[in-house]
Amino acid sequence: MISETVRVRFAPSPTGPLHLGGVRTALYNYLFARKYHGTFILRIEDTDQQRFVRSAEEYIIESLGWCGIHFDEGVVSGGPFAPYRQSDRSMIYKEIIGRLLETGHAYYAFDSVGELEEIRNRYQVAGAEQFQYNYKTRQEMKNSLTLSQQEVADRISTGNPYVIRIRIPENEVIVFNDLIRGKVSVHTSNLDDKVLFKSDGLPTYHLANVVDDHLMKITHVIRGEEWLPSAPLHLLLYRFFDWEKTMPQFAHLPLILKPDGKGKLSKRDGDRLGFPVFPLQWTDPVSGEVSHGYREDGYLPEAFINMLALLGWNPGTEKELFSMNELIDAFSIERVGKHGSKFDPEKAKWFNHQYLSHKTDDELMEILKSQLSRHLITASDEYVLRVIGLTKDRANLIGDLWDNSWFFFQSPQAYDERSRAKNWQSPSGEIIRNFAADVSEMKDFTKDTLHEVASHFVTLHNIKMGQLMNPLRLLIVGSNQGPGMMEIAEVLGKKEFLQRIEVGLSILG
Ligand code: GLU
Repeated sequence: MISETVRVRFAPSPTGPLHLGGVRTALYNYLFARKYHGTFILRIEDTDQQRFVRSAEEYIIESLGWCGIHFDEGVVSGGPFAPYRQSDRSMIYKEIIGRLLETGHAYYAFDSVGELEEIRNRYQVAGAEQFQYNYKTRQEMKNSLTLSQQEVADRISTGNPYVIRIRIPENEVIVFNDLIRGKVSVHTSNLDDKVLFKSDGLPTYHLANVVDDHLMKITHVIRGEEWLPSAPLHLLLYRFFDWEKTMPQFAHLPLILKPDGKGKLSKRDGDRLGFPVFPLQWTDPVSGEVSHGYREDGYLPEAFINMLALLGWNPGTEKELFSMNELIDAFSIERVGKHGSKFDPEKAKWFNHQYLSHKTDDELMEILKSQLSRHLITASDEYVLRVIGLTKDRANLIGDLWDNSWFFFQSPQAYDERSRAKNWQSPSGEIIRNFAADVSEMKDFTKDTLHEVASHFVTLHNIKMGQLMNPLRLLIVGSNQGPGMMEIAEVLGKKEFLQRIEVGLSILG
């Protein structure tokens, strides 16, 4: 049973653009919150100053807004548990870590970065397993467990840099229930004494995350699988703080895999195979490198979201097209799979095609008109609607609306070399010239009358229809693309049709 008081959060670290997997985590949290009439919170986890990227927070907010994923509380809208940005909450963590020091569940450690590196190297050279700061090694290190109380006090008062580490209990099995994976158990000998508080005076992710989930009364932590290994440590923190009674339930989402299923989907896969892995275009503030985004590549947010929802969750039926409201109704954590889901870029296009073809002609007209205005072209609504009627079925991406129809709005600037080599033969010029003469006599210029004239023409001259139509298309469209030739001609009108032929003949002869 899930209570009415569901409170979930999306807690990104602003270290760069949001990956598909991050959007999906936000989406599942959002669906879960809406389904149970709960509250959805955006918390920014920016305690890692070294990896902090200034423009990332804004990017994350804009991306989720584009997706239609809205928050009830958080950095944008505020709320009863403000502030929602961890760098603005440092006093809270500073105070709270004192409790763990007092109860002996955490300790000061003075080992310098250099000393730790040296010991790691020593382990490596000796061929031993990787060095871990843990129940075995902590007795040999420089920390408040090994140094005298006086020395610890002196070091702190003289400003000797230190971190605060959790003291993982020995020889215990931590067991918890994951809503997706079921029972998970981990032996504490596999856990290290993670740093909770850093020398820069800020907490690490682990401490800040648990403290905030508690203070913000989070009921369910739904996050990526990469955090599963951290969950036992988080459980211990709930125990040490004596917060177990209100501890949230955990659900770790499986990975989104590369199209071939071999490993986690990365930006490099997108670059290599030509699809975006980010919702919006991203410009790296240091290198200036620009990465593709679904929005700029011509995807509709509804299609993008629908595709993402089904990457890991399944409704248990054959239904594939879901509006956001339908997703909210149908979603359940129980139907999220345990195993990773392969990302399929073709399926992403398929979804977009479905959503584009479900748009009304008027909606598509508005989209095409905004593209026309970018090309400084104006056309009447009636004309744009006729074009939409002929070209919409071929569109997968928003940009295809323009790519498939530009020749209705401007004459070709060049003739495609390949189509020219294939379709412009020596008699083509003469055929077209004679045909144009017949067309100029026509009173009523429609696709049907043009078809009659063309049929009559090919019979009379004893040629195949293709010998007329292919070079004709080259002159009118500039290549062999486009819908039916007669339909194009009818929309263009007789005057424009004959003019393009004339220009074409003067160039191609
Ligand atoms: N800040 C973490 C991240 O960037 C949040 C993980 C969690 O949800 O606990 O993914």
